[in-house]
Amino acid sequence: MTNIKDNLQTVRQEILHAVERRRKDFGTNEVKLIAVTKNHDVDLMREVIDLGVDEIGENRIQEAAEKFSTLDRHVKWHLIGHLQTNKVKSAVKMFDLIHSIDSEHLAKTVDKAAKAIDKIQSILIQVNLAKEESKTGVEIEDFDNLVSTVESLENLRLCGLMLIAPNYDDVEQCRPLFKQMYEIFNNLRNSKLKQADVKYLSMGMTHDYKIAIEEGANMVRVGTAIFGKRDYN
Ligand SMILES: *Cc1c(COP(=O)(O)O)cnc(C)c1O
Repeated sequence: MTNIKDNLQTVRQEILHAVERRRKDFGTNEVKLIAVTKNHDVDLMREVIDLGVDEIGENRIQEAAEKFSTLDRHVKWHLIGHLQTNKVKSAVKMFDLIHSIDSEHLAKTVDKAAKAIDKIQSILIQVNLAKEESKTGVEIEDFDNLVSTVESLENLRLCGLMLIAPNYDDVEQCRPLFKQMYEIFNNLRNSKLKQADVKYLSMGMTHDYKIAIEEGANMVRVGTAIFGKRDYN
C-alpha cells in the first residue's frame, strides 16, 4: 500500500535538498509543492490536505468540477492541464491559478469569463520550449505577443510561466531547458509590466522536479511520487 505520509515527507525533503544544491541565487528559496490529484478520489485528496498540503493540481475540468463540489476542505486549486475554450467558464469559477494559457484566443476567452463574474484571474503562460509535437504551450516565437495581449486584458493577472519538459529517458536532458526557462522567466520578472505580478516558475514533475528546482523552479507539480502510479494518465 502506498504510504502517502511517508511519500510526502520524502518529497518535501527532496525539495529542500534540491534547494541546497542550487548554485545560484534565484530570488527566492521557497518552493511551492502542488499535489497533483488527477485520477485520485476525494478521500485521497482529504488525506493529503490533512497532512498539510494546501495546493492541489487537476488537469481535467469535469473531474475537477465533481471534486470541487464534494471536497470539504479549503485549498488552492491549480489547473495544470490543457484548457479548451468551451470549458473556460467552469475553469474560471474553480481555479485560483490557471497554468496553461498558451494562445491569445484562450487568454481573451478567459479574460471575458473572469470579467463576467467580476474576478481577476491569475494565470501562467505555458511555454512549449522543446517544440514538442504535443502542441500545448506557446512557441517561443509567439511568446512576446502573448505577454502583450495578456497585459492588455484587465481581468487577467500574469503570475509567471509554466513548462512541461519532455519525458526523456535520461532526465538530465531536461536541465538545459530548465535553465533556458529560468532566463525567460527572469527577463519577464525584470521587465516591469504594469498589471503582472510575475513570481512563479512552474516546472518539475515526479521524474524531473529535483533538477527543475536546482535550475530555478519555485513551483513543482508532483503526483506519482506522492500517490503512487495512476491507473491511466
Ligand atoms: C500529471 C501531471 C503532473 C504530475 O505528474 P507526475 O509524474 O505524476 O508527478 C504534473 N504536471 C502536469 C501538467 C500533469 O499533467
